[in-house]
Formats: sequence, structure tokens, C-alpha cells
Amino acid sequence: MHNIIMIGPQGSGKGTQADLLARKLGIPHVSLGTLLRTEVANNTELGRTLSSYTDRGEIVPIEIVTEVLKKRLSASDTVTGVILDGYPRTRAQEETLESIMSELGRKITDAISLNITDEEAMKRLSGRRVCANVACERNYHIEYHPTKTPGRCDECGSPVVQRKDDVPDAIKRRLEIFHAETKPLISLYAAEGVLREIDGMHMIDEVQTSIRAVFGV
Ligand SMILES: [Zn+2]
Repeated sequence: MHNIIMIGPQGSGKGTQADLLARKLGIPHVSLGTLLRTEVANNTELGRTLSSYTDRGEIVPIEIVTEVLKKRLSASDTVTGVILDGYPRTRAQEETLESIMSELGRKITDAISLNITDEEAMKRLSGRRVCANVACERNYHIEYHPTKTPGRCDECGSPVVQRKDDVPDAIKRRLEIFHAETKPLISLYAAEGVLREIDGMHMIDEVQTSIRAVFGV
């Protein structure tokens, strides 16, 4: 069983790599951001609770995020494993995940750290465009991976937009937070013997090849 987490700054290609690896290993790719947005889009009870915070511009309490995550990790499609992306990002989240996993009788088997420079992260993120359709959320890049029709998703035809956290000032802030809060997790997972360091500075396919080599697939 593979219980995998992806660590890397935004722009490291975590989501894309997680997606490709999940398909190869036949296990679900769980992105916390997508999970939360889906609850809201489906107008579930959890979703309405989430909106009540985000609509006021408030931080969603940790208990609610934990509940969403626990619900997803308890689903039957995760019995053979899961790839988590976007969580944990802090020591507190790592402890939360640890307790959810141990409640489910599982543990993290692999922490993949995707390494890229801050300059590269900035370049990749500021050019990123995302499909506005929450059921699609396909990613594009104005330079590396443009849409075929300007401004329209290749997959579903919805408008592609720049997320407000993909503007330079916001990116810089997120990189600082990554260095301060997420990076310490790397040494923690190294001490547990589950850290897999991957050079993320290459093309998507090359990075995926390095990751698959870790799993012998
Ligand atoms: Zn789309």
C-alpha cells in the first residue's frame, strides 16, 4: 500500500505529477484545494459551512479541514493507497494527518519532495492559467502550455483565468511561507526514512520518470 504525500512549493508541478503517478499506481489523487472547492460547489452541509467562513474572508477552522480530509481518506477507493497533494503544509497539519492516518490504521509510506528554485517557481506560477470550471480545473501556462483557443479550456471550453494568488506579490508571499512552514517537514520525513527527493527542474515527463523509478513502475 502506498500512502504518498507530495511536498514542494507551488509551481513545482506537484498536482500534475501526483495525477500522473496516481494513474500509474491506480490509486486516487486527493488534492485538498479541490476537495474543499468541490464541497462548496456541491453545496453539501460541509460546503455551506466552508462558505460561511470564506465568504467573510475568514480562515477555515482546522477542525473543518480535518473533517473533509478524514471523510475523503475513509472512502473505499483509498484502501490500496492514496496520493495527497496540498496537505500537510505545516507541522500542525502533519500532526493532524498523522492522527487521521493512525485512526485508519495507516501511515505515510513516501513523502516526495519536488525541488525547484524560487526563480523557477515564480516563472511557472505567474504564467499559470486555470480552467474556471471546478469539475475540470485543467492547468495551462501562457508560454509552456497555452490553450488552443485563446482564453478557453481545451477540455471543456470554459474560460481560463489567472487565480488571484498567482500574481507576483502573492507568489512571493507563498514561497516565503513554504520556506518557513513546509520545508521543516522535509527533515521530519527524512528522519522517518520516507523522504524521496526529486529534482523538479526538468520537463514534466522527465520528472515523472524519476518519481516512477522510486516505485519501480
Ligand atoms: Zn476545463
